[in-house]
Amino acid sequence: MELSRKVMAISDSVTLAINAKAKKMRSEGIDVIGFGAGEPDFNTPENIRNEAISAIKKGYTKYTPVPGIPELKSSVCKKLKNDNGVEYEPSQIIISNGAKQSIHNALMAICNPGDEVILQMPYWVSYPELIKIADAKPVFVETHENEGFRYTLEALNKAVTARTKAIILNSPNNPTGTIYSKKELEAIAEFAIDKDIFVISDEIYEKLMYDGNKHVSIASLGDDIKERTILINGVSKAYAMTGWRIGYAAARKDITKMMSNLQSHETSNPNSIAQYASIEAIEGSQDAVEAMRREFEKRRGYMVDRINSINGLHCRKPEGAFYVFVNISGIKGKNINGRNIDGSVSFCEALLDEVRVAAVPGKAFGADDYIRLSYATSMENIKEGLNRIERYLA
Ligand SMILES: *Cc1c(COP(=O)(O)O)cnc(C)c1O
Repeated sequence: MELSRKVMAISDSVTLAINAKAKKMRSEGIDVIGFGAGEPDFNTPENIRNEAISAIKKGYTKYTPVPGIPELKSSVCKKLKNDNGVEYEPSQIIISNGAKQSIHNALMAICNPGDEVILQMPYWVSYPELIKIADAKPVFVETHENEGFRYTLEALNKAVTARTKAIILNSPNNPTGTIYSKKELEAIAEFAIDKDIFVISDEIYEKLMYDGNKHVSIASLGDDIKERTILINGVSKAYAMTGWRIGYAAARKDITKMMSNLQSHETSNPNSIAQYASIEAIEGSQDAVEAMRREFEKRRGYMVDRINSINGLHCRKPEGAFYVFVNISGIKGKNINGRNIDGSVSFCEALLDEVRVAAVPGKAFGADDYIRLSYATSMENIKEGLNRIERYLA
């Protein structure tokens, strides 16, 4: 019997697959250095964990309203106003099971079959699949290292058609670490207004920016662009809360209503206990966030310098998130220890097999000349892992 063609066409997450292989090797006693992590290596701050325990003790263990408890929605409104300078009413907020579900619900709410959604390449692995699940078509706009992996207006104007429904923006970016300046966002906002399309703005890494840069949300650039922006954020990356599964979207009221209707049948409300803990994350002390950010910044500096000193590798300094996107074109086509390195997948396989270092092939992000190394791991691991890569390439 034929199974679903739509779901069969969905690929599994390569990032998760590499991590699974590394984990399996580790469980067999093999000492693997993992650069694959897509989540902070820190524990969730204690004040947040305590709020969850208290929520359990108070018996906050039942269904909540589908789009989230009013207290958390109001915390999100306050946060968006104070941090991002953009005002929403609680009815314009929907809390979901992670930012990933928010993006899924957003695409489902705006797309019709045949619609096109523009995204930049290299891209976060889930975007193309989520677009396809919504019966729309991903339109890839290649971005280049020498332009900081940023959309250019020229490329956007080439990609846009009468069927374009939305553009996905992810600043700070996974996997490149790129951030967009206010000026660049203004140009994209003008483009979106001119072409009458939505902007899905994934701001999940907003708290992880370096060199004194400050996050700008495209939604804050005026009422016209706010109307057509679906702002996505969550607690996973900022508060080391990946396992708690709380993300949110802010958008036009009719859109959040549709997202809520959809969510009511998919998953109902996100976890009640995690919602209470997220109020503490957003409204409580932000000291732990700053401590984690500083540690990431230190690791980033070390990692970028080391990589650029290794023969055959180079990278630009990422401005945000916790990934270094390493250019391996100097190695592609070479034969190392009898292995033909024909691209990012064979290079990552070689690193795992020969020196027990786990990295994510750029091919997963649509960029085969690169690998992604995460610095969400200890300085000690970073040093040892880079020593091994250097030894392998020597
Ligand atoms: C991690 C990540 C997310 C997903 O976050 P969750 O809230 O854990 O679902 C969304 N977008 C990007 C770019 C990410 O890297």
